[in-house]
Amino acid sequence: MGATYLTPGGALPYCKGCSHGLVLRALGQALERLAVPPEDLAIVTDIGCVGLADAQFSTPHTIHTTHGRSTAFAAGMALADGTLAQGRLKPVVMIGDGGAMIGLGHLVNAALLNPNMTVLVHNNFLFGMTGGQNSAFTPEDFVTSTTPTGSTTPPLDLGQLLLASRAPFFARKLATDRDLAEVIARAIAHPGFAVVEILELCTAYATRWNPLTGAELKNLADRAGYELGILRAAARPTFADSQRRQALRAPRASEWGVIPGEFSAQLREPLGLVLAGTAGEHVQSAASLLARAAMRAGLQVTQKNDNPVTQGTGFSVSELILSAEEILFTGIEEPDTLLVVSEDGARELERNAVFTQVRPETLVLADLKVPLPDLPCQVLRYPFRSAAGAKLAGLAAIVAWLSLTSVLPLEALWATLEARFGTEAAATRAKLSPFLEAA
Ligand code: SF4
Repeated sequence: MGATYLTPGGALPYCKGCSHGLVLRALGQALERLAVPPEDLAIVTDIGCVGLADAQFSTPHTIHTTHGRSTAFAAGMALADGTLAQGRLKPVVMIGDGGAMIGLGHLVNAALLNPNMTVLVHNNFLFGMTGGQNSAFTPEDFVTSTTPTGSTTPPLDLGQLLLASRAPFFARKLATDRDLAEVIARAIAHPGFAVVEILELCTAYATRWNPLTGAELKNLADRAGYELGILRAAARPTFADSQRRQALRAPRASEWGVIPGEFSAQLREPLGLVLAGTAGEHVQSAASLLARAAMRAGLQVTQKNDNPVTQGTGFSVSELILSAEEILFTGIEEPDTLLVVSEDGARELERNAVFTQVRPETLVLADLKVPLPDLPCQVLRYPFRSAAGAKLAGLAAIVAWLSLTSVLPLEALWATLEARFGTEAAATRAKLSPFLEAA
């Protein structure tokens, strides 16, 4: 005997005549037809009456999500499963027209990304659970609680939108169609992103306020200009296919993308370092070089960057945590090291009260000309800007600090520079040489 999916004999929790029941049963039949292993199935529901569906399934994985986000949840699962695991997961989303409107961007993005998943859009032309309000799918002249004299705007054509978004499979069916289970089965079996929009009856509101019956659904579709049937069933590489292809082209270990752990660092406690300078002067890039050098020396690293929205003006600050152990919190409450290479950077640290976090054991390396408040710790001054130039000031501060503290071998930084800049690294290194053991 095959697996069962819908809880056998369970009464569905919908109003009498509601089409959700037809669709749930058609989905159950489709799953039986395909004999999807229950443990490979993930039923993902959205908010609304359709959100009660997950409780109707006896399969192990059901997820009830926030409004409009079910597609995004399922896409995340499908992308992770397709790229990191065996790609056996079959997420099936059930979302209403209200949720589809709220999460339209997720549907478009999923269509573009093409994860292996299926979305059933239960389109009954209004928000059922919350009182029959209109949605973007409400047809013209349709009466809802928010359009009591009939909607004056045309309904969204989801099929056209998703076909333009490159969805490889799209079908539009009526809930009353005899072949609904077969079309849903085709959607689930289709490799990639597949959507079935199902035109339904909400008997609590839609059929009460509008001359709508099961037999009328087809006429409504015609009036809305909706094409019915399977509008596209095309082959297209899934996201996982594309990732696998990409992986075959992955950079070799000697290139910038892969960081070999070829040095070792002597770091007993996690260390929080803040590099503060001016936007456009490669502050964050310098911090990134240090981060990568630390990884070459076997350390765990986090980097958080901050700059104004303008990107090229004002301050630029990077916070790095270096640690021999896994880093579970990326914030720095009291920095161990401050590297301050411009007035913009110093002002931003002042504004964020970073100087008040300085302790006697904090080490501060600052440009000669940058004004600093009185600090209760050692402050070492260097001509970062005048000797190395503004765009190398951040890196110069890092070289001076590494040279002074030996937190990790300078060779790790030179190797990182070489991996990043190739033959140009030698010239950069020469400009930084004044900061070797220059304290
Ligand atoms: S309110 Fe409408 S959509 Fe909700 S269960 Fe009742 S008939 Fe179905």
